[in-house]
Amino acid sequence: MFKFPLIKGKQVCYPRNPSVCPICKKKAKSNVILNTGALLADRKNNTAVMSEDLDGFFSIILHDHPKDNHAFLHVADSVHNGQCEFYFCSTKCLRKFFNICVDEFEKKIRLNDKALSATINKIDYTKVHKHSSQHRAEISKSFKCGCYYCLAIFEPEIIKEWIDTNTTGIGQTAVCPKCGIDSVIGSKSGYPIIEKFLKKMYNQWFKKCISAEKLKEKYLKKHSKS
Ligand SMILES: [Zn+2]
Ligand SMILES: [Zn+2]
Repeated sequence: MFKFPLIKGKQVCYPRNPSVCPICKKKAKSNVILNTGALLADRKNNTAVMSEDLDGFFSIILHDHPKDNHAFLHVADSVHNGQCEFYFCSTKCLRKFFNICVDEFEKKIRLNDKALSATINKIDYTKVHKHSSQHRAEISKSFKCGCYYCLAIFEPEIIKEWIDTNTTGIGQTAVCPKCGIDSVIGSKSGYPIIEKFLKKMYNQWFKKCISAEKLKEKYLKKHSKS
């Protein structure tokens, strides 16, 4: 019914004919206008004008870092001259419009979640393991890391210990700063660093491992003061 973005490019007004409300489809006797965008300011003279150099937008964005879901909905996008207007017949229809936008946005969130679940289910988990050792270069290029033993997600900068030293004495395998197990994977590996993925790895490698729990206790004791 609604094709997003509702306003784009040269079209600066929605609906194209503002005398009919896009929500209730009735002839609008009066208008409630959602006016959004930007004007080019002239601070010296305290004025502002529309400008061909401006592209207006109106978006709803999700940054769900734990789930790696970054859904977005462009309600208006790249609107020429910077400004756009949505016309309704009443505040009641304006409210319904916001609900329609949020419903559409939630649909996108669900689609992203579904796509990510499908990706995670398709991963060959036997191939992932090699990214958790001899990976110092990969970890240093990652913006986040995850541990598939304790399922913590953290920035690579907080890693305190590296094992598997190379010929120059520099450790090449990260030890998880939260649990002390060498089961860290960086985002640079290309795998989704989210709990769902880490849990699958845990089930593959650690489910029946008792020695890892002992190692974790030892590490936490050692770093309890820092
Ligand atoms: Zn209406
Ligand atoms: Zn850990």
